[in-house]
Amino acid sequence: MTFRYLTIAAAVFLGACATSDPAETATDMPEWRLVIHGGAGVITRDGMTPEKEAAYTAALETALEAGAEVLRSGGSALDAVEAAVIPMEDDPLFNAGYGAVMTASQEHELDASIMDGRDRNAGAVAGVKRVRNPIRAARAVMEQSEHVMFAGDGADAFAESQGLDMVDNSYFYTERRQNALERVLKDRKRTAEDRHGTVGAVAIDMNGNLAAATTTGGMTAKAAGRIGDSPLIGAATYAENGVCAVSATGHGEYFIRVGVAKTICDRVKLAGDDLKQAADTALAEVADLGGDGGVIVIGADGDFAFIFNSEGMYRGLIDASGARTAIYGDE
Ligand code: ASP
Repeated sequence: MTFRYLTIAAAVFLGACATSDPAETATDMPEWRLVIHGGAGVITRDGMTPEKEAAYTAALETALEAGAEVLRSGGSALDAVEAAVIPMEDDPLFNAGYGAVMTASQEHELDASIMDGRDRNAGAVAGVKRVRNPIRAARAVMEQSEHVMFAGDGADAFAESQGLDMVDNSYFYTERRQNALERVLKDRKRTAEDRHGTVGAVAIDMNGNLAAATTTGGMTAKAAGRIGDSPLIGAATYAENGVCAVSATGHGEYFIRVGVAKTICDRVKLAGDDLKQAADTALAEVADLGGDGGVIVIGADGDFAFIFNSEGMYRGLIDASGARTAIYGDE
C-alpha cells in the first residue's frame, strides 16, 4: 500500500496552522504511521528550562519508539496505540498513570479509552484508582467483557480480575502534583497548566487499520467522581477504518459537550472535510463554548493533523522515514 506522505516540515507541526492537505507536500510514504500527544495547554518557552524540554522530548521519543516497534513488525494499530501510551502513563512528566494530577480529595482518579477502527469496538475505564495502567484496563474492557465502559470500584475490580498490575492509590503520587493541588485550592483558580499532560495516540498500520487511545488523570483539584472527556468514546477518542482516528486533550467539559472526536470523524465521513477542516471546525465549537485544547488525527490514507487552540501541545510523529517531536505552537 502506498500512502501519500506529508513532508515533516516545520509547518506541519504548527498548531492551529497545521496542514493536513496532502496536495501541498504529497510524496510516497511508508506503510504505517503513529502520532502521539502528551497534552495541550499553556506550554511556552518562557515556562520551560532546557532540561525540562529535553526530558519531554526524550519521553515523547520513547513513546513513539514503543509504538513504532509494533507497527514496523507488522503489528496492529490497536497494539501500537496501547504500546505508545503505556510509557507515558509510567512517566511522571505526563498527567496519566504515575504522576497523574490529584483530586480535591487528595486522591488520583484515572480515565482511559481505546478504540479499534476495524470494527469500532471500544473499551474505557473511568475514575479508576488502583490499576497501574488504565489503558490496559480499557483494552481489557473492550476485549474481555461484553461492555464498553466500566467506572470506579467496579472498573478496578474488573482490571484485577483480568490479572492486570494493581497498585495502591499512593503509587500515582508525586510532590509536583501535590503542590499544584495546594495552589489550586488556595487560589481557588485552575489554569490550563493544571490539567495538561493527558496522553494519547492514533495510528495506521500496514493493513490500513486505524486505532486511537487516550489516558489521563483529569484536572487538578477535580471533585471526586468527576469524569472528563478522555474515557468517552466520541468525545476524546474515536477510530473508524476508512475515515480517521482521533485522540483529544483539553478542557474535558467542553470536549464532551461538542463530542469532538466523533464530530471530526463525521465531518470527514459525511461532509467530505479534510482532517484539518474537520478538526478546525470541532475545535472552533469548543472555543465558542469557552474551552481550549487540541487533537491529533490520522486519516485513512495516512495523512495527519495536529490541531490545537492552546499555546502548545506536546506531540510527535513516527513512520518509516523517522521521528519528529514538537512542543510549542510556533514549531
Ligand atoms: N481532557 C482532560 C480532562 O478534562 C484533561 C486534558 O486533556 O488536559 O480530564
